[in-house]
Formats: sequence, C-alpha cells, structure tokens
Amino acid sequence: MSKKGRVMNKYTEKVLNFVKSKNENEKEYIQAVEEVLTSLEPVINEHPEYENLALLERMVEPERLISFRVPYINDEGQVIVHRGYRVQFSSLIGPYKGGLRFHPSVNQSIIKFLGFEQIFKNALTGLPIGGGKGGSDFDPKGKSDNEIMKFCQSFMTELQRHIGKDIDVPAGDIGVGEREIGYLFGQYKRIKDTYEGGVLTGKGLSYGGSLARKEATGFGLIYFMREMLKANGNQTFQGKKVIISGAGNVAIYACQKALEYGADVIAMSDSKGCIYDEKGIDLALIKQIKEEKRARIFEYLKVHPEAKYYENQSEDFPIWAIKADIALPCATQNEITLNSAKKLVANGIIAVGEGANMPCTKEATEYLLANNILVAPAKAANAGGVATSAIEMSQNSMRYYFNFEEVNNKLDDIMVNIFHACQKSALKYNLGNNYVAGANIAAFSKLAKAMKAQGVV
Ligand code: NDP
Repeated sequence: MSKKGRVMNKYTEKVLNFVKSKNENEKEYIQAVEEVLTSLEPVINEHPEYENLALLERMVEPERLISFRVPYINDEGQVIVHRGYRVQFSSLIGPYKGGLRFHPSVNQSIIKFLGFEQIFKNALTGLPIGGGKGGSDFDPKGKSDNEIMKFCQSFMTELQRHIGKDIDVPAGDIGVGEREIGYLFGQYKRIKDTYEGGVLTGKGLSYGGSLARKEATGFGLIYFMREMLKANGNQTFQGKKVIISGAGNVAIYACQKALEYGADVIAMSDSKGCIYDEKGIDLALIKQIKEEKRARIFEYLKVHPEAKYYENQSEDFPIWAIKADIALPCATQNEITLNSAKKLVANGIIAVGEGANMPCTKEATEYLLANNILVAPAKAANAGGVATSAIEMSQNSMRYYFNFEEVNNKLDDIMVNIFHACQKSALKYNLGNNYVAGANIAAFSKLAKAMKAQGVV
C-alpha cells in the first residue's frame, strides 16, 4: 500500500521497497525514485512482462558509481581534502551525460537523485544522451581564482580516467559555471595530450563552447511554460506577475526570456534571502551582482532602496509567500515545501515551472496538482540545458559552429516537442494535464523500449 492507503501495483511496490532497504540513508534518491515509480503505474499495469525482464530493478541501479579523494593546497598553504563523485547511471541511449555540482551539501544521495532524474530528462530531449551526474562537497564561494583552479585540476586528475566524448560528458550545475569548466577542460587536455572538445560541455566560446548554451536552461524553461500556458486556455506570459527563486544561471536567463515575453518579474533570491521589487526586477543589476561580482543579492538594495529584502530563516523560503501568477523555482531541490505550496495556492498562483531539479517536495507537488495548478516538471521543463549541451557536442564533432539563432531555434523546437510528448502521454493514460506523470511516462516508454531491445545488460 502507498502512504495514502492507495493500492500500488505489486511490482512497483516491490522495487520501491527494495530501493528503500538498499539505500536507506539516501532520502533524496528515494524521493526521486518514488516519484517516478508511482507515476509509472499505468504503464507497468499495461506491461506485466517488464517484471520478468527486471526492467525497473535495472533502471534504479546505477551502472557505476565512483567516489574519490580530491586534495588541493589552499592559499594559506594548507592541504584540504574533499570528496568527489561521478555516477554513471545509464548509457542506454548514449554516453553518460549530466552536470557537476560543487556545493557543501553534495553527498551520494544527491548525486544519485540527480543522476537518476537525468536519465529520464535526457531521454525526453530526443537526443542520443545517457544519464550521469557528479560533483563534490567543495564550496567555491569565497575561494580565490587560484584555489578554484587548483581544486578543479585535482578533481579532473581523477575524473579523466572515467570520461571521454563517447563515454561520459560532464557539464556545469550549481557552483560549476564557465570558469570551472575552463579549468577542468584545461587539465583534461593537459593529461590526455589531445584536444577532445566533446568531453565537456558548457565550455567558453573561445575554445569550443556553443552559443546559447549559457541561456539554454532558463530560455528552455520559458519555452516549455509558453506551450503549457497556451495548451491550457490559450494563456501567455504577457502581464503575468512572476517570482523566480535563485539568481544563478537558470534563474537569470529564465527571467530574461520571461521579461521578453511581457511578464512582470517581481522577485528573485539567493541562498540567503529574496528581493521583492514591485516595480519589476532590474535584471541588469542582478547580472552585475551575481555574474560579475559574485556577491549577495541584498546588494540590490544599494541601488533600489525602495525594494524589500526578506532573509531565509527556515525551510519555507519567504519568496513563496509573495503574491504572483507564476512561480519558477530555479535554485535547488525541495525548495517548495508543502507549506510554501499552500501559500502559493492561497495567493492565486496558476502555474509552477521547475527550473531547478526536484524543487518541489513530493507533498508540495501533490498539493499543487490536487488544486489544479499547472506544474511543468523539472525533467521536461529544464531539459533545454542538456539538450543544448548535446548540440554543443554535435558542433564539436562536426568542427563547425551554429550561430545563436540556429541554436536557439533548435532549443525552442526541442522544448515544444518535449511538451507535446508529456501532453500526449498524460492524455493517453487519462491523466488530464498532469505533466509530471506525463513526463515520466513519456521518458520511461522510450527507455523501456531501448532496454528490451538491448537484452539483459
Ligand atoms: P547556480 O550555481 O548558477 O545558481 C544557483 C542559485 O540557487 C544561486 O542563486 C544560489 O544562491 C541558489 N541556491 C543554491 N543552493 C541553494 C540552497 N540550498 N538554498 C537556497 N538557494 C540556493 O546554479 P544553476 O542555476 O546552474 O542551477 C540551479 C538549479 O537548476 C539546480 O537545481 C540545477 O541542478 C538545475 N539545473 C541547472 C542546469 C544548468 O544548465 N545550469 C540544467 C538543468 C537543471 P547563492 O548565489 O547564494 O549561492
């Protein structure tokens, strides 16, 4: 039985119990698997043969999980040791592909949840990429450029044994942007003595990066939301009040595209707190504070003293108490709790677009769906980043570059296709506009087909 007393499919329940018992200290990983497995029940009911093939058991067990020591010497001459990870979850439909996260909260559970989600996300893009993820509990905040470079070089000294353009292709994530990718790429090139552009994505434009990669996750989120709003009452962003958590790569470019579409973005945040500017967020200033100065968002008040700043004091972030039409969580996992979801609904929100990975707790998602709020699920809605990474890989192979418009148009087409795939699967199983289940089912159906075709591997 599920928590609510609903009878679960026996096979799904068995696999979920197995995952819980085998990974009992990995709460984020269990959460991600539970969310997927419960939504796959209609497909599993339809395909009893999957149990004999142990399809789900194979899907929830990573092909390989690597953990390694990352020592470096800081500016004070001290030796510091961190732990690095790479989970190579699934190479079913292409080389392992997924970002690297540098954040003190990184542990095996977080890397596995991200790697698991990545398999489904990458399948949705329609491109030949498998699922992987990695990172370290290293915190780049407050470190000098020299320390960041030394750490990245040490991290790559081990990681290089496990990756390659046709094996595993890492990219950025929280705490890993163009600067870190540059240092990682430099070290890879030095050790391997070869220019292998396609081994990392999110590279700088001067040595093999793709135009529009930086913008891709945020822009892609808004393209997906545009389609979702259109399909539900022909709505648009025009004049809608939007709140966006985070002020990093995803949040900034989601904000930029939402503004282009006529939205009124009134709040953004960082890990310390949020800015509420009822006149509309000054994005150029946010970029200056976050991209150029790497400073705290409250510096916004120095230029706009009339704006309000609310500090994060609990797991219920204050940004979700601000009245708006659309909420875009673009910071981190579990940032929308059930309490926050209740506030959003009480304030009349119509749609939530997940730019971050698993930003809503399971209870929050269930509450939003039960209250007829449109939810754009992360696996689908933030897939624009990895899709554009795959386009970067293609350009590296071809030794040819597309211009910005070409990449952006491909990204837009991919997001439209992803939305339609989610919509089609939801309709097929009478799930209405539950795109959360739609995304899981669409991705799983593709993966199940590939798994059956490749035999027991
Ligand atoms: P960045 O590091 O560029 O930005 C992250 C932002 O979120 C920062 O503003 C940061 O605040 C805030 N943040 C991070 N951790 C927390 C926390 N624990 N509580 C509150 N706020 C927090 O990361 P990205 O923009 O690249 O990634 C954001 C999310 O999007 C992640 O979930 C990531 O997995 C997901 N994602 C990213 C993709 C990409 O292409 N970059 C692709 C697909 C998904 P501060 O500035 O204070 O650190």
